[in-house]
Amino acid sequence: MAKVNTVLGEISDNELGVTLMHEHLVFAYLGWECDALAPPYDREAAFTACVEALKEAKNYGLKTLVDATATDMGRDIELQKMVSDKLGINIICATGFYTEKFGKAGYFKFRSQSYDITAELCETLVKEITQGIGDTGVKAGVIKVATGHARISSYEEKMLKAAARAQKETGVPIITHTEAGTMGPEQADLLVSEGVDPKRVAIGHMCGNSDLNYHLSVLEKGVNIAFDRLGIGVIFPDRLRIACLIALLGIGYTDRILLSQDCFAYRMGRPYEFSDEVKSLLANWTYVHVFKNIIPALKEAGVSEDKINTLMVGNPRRLFGGE
Ligand SMILES: [Zn+2]
Repeated sequence: MAKVNTVLGEISDNELGVTLMHEHLVFAYLGWECDALAPPYDREAAFTACVEALKEAKNYGLKTLVDATATDMGRDIELQKMVSDKLGINIICATGFYTEKFGKAGYFKFRSQSYDITAELCETLVKEITQGIGDTGVKAGVIKVATGHARISSYEEKMLKAAARAQKETGVPIITHTEAGTMGPEQADLLVSEGVDPKRVAIGHMCGNSDLNYHLSVLEKGVNIAFDRLGIGVIFPDRLRIACLIALLGIGYTDRILLSQDCFAYRMGRPYEFSDEVKSLLANWTYVHVFKNIIPALKEAGVSEDKINTLMVGNPRRLFGGE
């Protein structure tokens, strides 16, 4: 039996239950705090928004939420604890880093002129997993890494190598961000070539295209893939995502696919208003879309209850080291 770090302590893999593998409570592009006209972060408001939005997901049977917010994306550990405690769902907190373009690479990039930052990035990951994050007492349960569009930068390559080493040292799984679904096979190759067990890797945002050849080329590396932006119609239409899912489930990949929505309930910084057209494309982008719309669509296409259970319970559990 595998042990899993949650924000309220260690649990067994068999306690994970129905799991959303890639969501956020709050989200920030760092740098927002330099915006003199941005309202300050309001944790109470974030807490209310998260509880309100996640209550419905709990009613659909949600037991565990993986908060994929890396160290440089506005991660709020105290909030994660508050929400987990209030709703009685497990929250698994991530350690790791966002893309060079949108994260906070500057510090490590500066140090890379004189120091081995692969080692330093790895030390950060291992510290947050084994000793805890700051003085919160919370240990990270998953490693998050990210690469930019159609290219893995030198910084991102070091980040992936650090993640691979930390994975092998601590046993926690790696989940990734790919930009528009690009660089999936390259991420998998890099991690596997560093000795990571591919079964402990989930290549993320693979639902950014409907190219089955591409999906298979990632799956052939032995890793899991995540359709974890379901509902974000502004990136790619759900109809085609569902068609791909049905195809992949139909040819034997049920035990290698994870479903999630990449939602958040509160954004730091100035309000960000979408146009009416974008709003309509994001109408289903909620924490319950998988339960409310995706699973029924799969069932309608003949996907069995058993397979749904594998997607929502079995696969997350195996990714975390369960049998
Ligand atoms: Zn995300």
